[in-house]
Amino acid sequence: MTAAPSHAPIALCTPNLAGNELRYVQECIETGWVSSVGAFVTRFEREFAEAVGAAHAIAMVNGTAALHIALMLAGVQVDEEVIVPSLTFIAPANAVRYCGAWPAFLDVEPTHLQLDPAAVLRFLEQDCIREGTVVINRRTNRRVRALVAVDLLGHPADTAALGDLCAAYGLAMIEDATESLGALRRGRPVGADARLAAFSFNGNKLITTGGGGMLVTDDAQLAARAKYLTTQAKDDAVEFVHGAVGWNYRLTNLQAAMGVAQLEQLPAFVARKRAIRAAYAEAFADLPHVRILGEAEWARSAQWMVTLLLDSTSRHTRQQLAADLAAVQIETRPLWQPLHRSPAHAGAWSGPCPNADAAQAWALSLPCSTHLTDNDLNRVIHDVRRSLA
Ligand SMILES: *Cc1c(COP(=O)(O)O)cnc(C)c1O
Repeated sequence: MTAAPSHAPIALCTPNLAGNELRYVQECIETGWVSSVGAFVTRFEREFAEAVGAAHAIAMVNGTAALHIALMLAGVQVDEEVIVPSLTFIAPANAVRYCGAWPAFLDVEPTHLQLDPAAVLRFLEQDCIREGTVVINRRTNRRVRALVAVDLLGHPADTAALGDLCAAYGLAMIEDATESLGALRRGRPVGADARLAAFSFNGNKLITTGGGGMLVTDDAQLAARAKYLTTQAKDDAVEFVHGAVGWNYRLTNLQAAMGVAQLEQLPAFVARKRAIRAAYAEAFADLPHVRILGEAEWARSAQWMVTLLLDSTSRHTRQQLAADLAAVQIETRPLWQPLHRSPAHAGAWSGPCPNADAAQAWALSLPCSTHLTDNDLNRVIHDVRRSLA
């Protein structure tokens, strides 16, 4: 017995490995260069820096490690506070805790779901006091040291507005670009203008190395420090003299080989993601109470995770829609529990986050693998329309 073909599973987002991945990985195995140094690591770092328009790129074991190192390089200290959007995958908030510091959760704006500069300004003006160049959260008595601008769901955060606020209040800004490789802001790649930006190559990201990450910076000293800290802070590689307690956050040559092959395909991946988003947007344009997240006029989203948003007056819930699609083997996913509600971060301060709550209540991400066929795309469109009819 065979399953009805129309019920073959359609995954949310799976890796597309149809390029030179196998060839380059095979080269590692044939030459024996499989571990934490090798030509592909160096090449991946160089080509990645070029691709995002940054001077330096440092390969790492994953995106969370890149955020951890970025926060340390930004000078975040124990018991300080770092502004993090409430709506995001949990990694940036966890990385703040790895430094012994605390996230302060603020809301996103309702249109593109990015950290809201107005909420940041309100927090800094109303909830903080300034003592000289130091900003202190009045409710927690903690110094606010930095802000993590997360480029959420493939769309750039407004780092122009957020950067102005950081400059005015003496905060460091770190860009979490893990979801948005290939996106542009005002024509420039995300990460290009950041002092410190983190990327991820987890299995469901724009490009994947199985697991992996990258820190980019324009500052040669920060780049050298990042390499040092992620390679066990080795001062003398012959005598094994270590000048500090470092980390083993290295990416292997095997993974970097995949990364080089994936990076070759990035423009095609972004183009396909955007075409999938456009197809959904067009197909649902006539439906009331539904929109597909788009992009600001200054942005070109990489459309990492194509996401449908029901409006809060819809009688249909995202849970019903997800169940209807699951019944025909179409995988979907809601957004993350907003972090101001996360048991993992119960000790953190947060501002009011109604937009994060609404997004979690009403958003559902749709299948958007870059190798999604037009047939499968049409099946998803058909079943979403049937569910919402
Ligand atoms: C995926 C992701 C990360 C971390 O990436 P890993 O490589 O899985 O550690 C960090 N921040 C955000 C917003 C992410 O979506």
